Amino acid sequence: MIEKTTIPGEVLFVGAGPGDPELITLKGLKALQQAELVVYAGSLVNPALLDECRDDCVIHDSAPLNLGQVLELMIPAAQAGKRVVRLHTGDPALYGAIQEQMEALDAAGVNYRVIPGVTATFAAAASLKQELTLPGVSQTLVLTRMAGRTPVPATEDLRNIARIGGSLCLYLSVGMMDKLVSELLVGGIFTPQTPVAVVYRASWPDEKIVEGSLTDIAAKVEQAGISRQALVLVGEVLKARTQGVPEKSKLYDADFAHGYRDKL
Ligand code: SAH
Repeated sequence: MIEKTTIPGEVLFVGAGPGDPELITLKGLKALQQAELVVYAGSLVNPALLDECRDDCVIHDSAPLNLGQVLELMIPAAQAGKRVVRLHTGDPALYGAIQEQMEALDAAGVNYRVIPGVTATFAAAASLKQELTLPGVSQTLVLTRMAGRTPVPATEDLRNIARIGGSLCLYLSVGMMDKLVSELLVGGIFTPQTPVAVVYRASWPDEKIVEGSLTDIAAKVEQAGISRQALVLVGEVLKARTQGVPEKSKLYDADFAHGYRDKL
């Protein structure tokens, strides 16, 4: 028996997952079902999740609201002892702007917790049926973005990130494909042949996948009409589905003993 998730007077930041309403966590779903106020991030939260809310739950879309307005909804409700859910897309810790909300809740003396969610990267990898860490290819995954209205610190410029190589997943950047490609190539590790996959609305019914290389991906993405709500995955790992894995994992190697399995 899993006990009650919510506590009156507390704000729960909940990761809604990438879109498919079944990809919210069990804890997140229970929080939604118990909530008396839900403030959800409109653009990428599946409204089907809101069907789970109680009939008397007050529901607001935060898309047209500023930070102050969101807080004006949540703080008095929590102070009145309501169960409040702030529903964010994917995982709230990534590009979720939750820190400033938590700071304001601290200042107001309101308790809160965070319930994680499935971030878009892992929904995209699942849609592609692609592992992002392959022995002998890449053991590093970088989650980043290009500067938009929100700047990116200079040390994290895409051309600097591209010097690491590895598997990259770019949020909030599909509208700048030409620049993205040229910055990646400046890094000196990725080449015009490096494979790229763009996943639009991963896990939604209208999901689209466009694959290519750094040479042709920008044109393919434009042709597909994708300019938002997509992720750009880059790296040699993406070749494995067509060219096979170069090295099998040690984890399941019959000659490799570890804490949970003896050598055969
Ligand atoms: N907190 C979210 C990210 C919010 S930023 C998360 O963890 O996934 C919004 C950006 O995330 C979008 O512009 C897009 O780049 C990406 N994104 C969110 N959901 C997506 C999905 N289902 N498919 C592809 N990209 C998605």
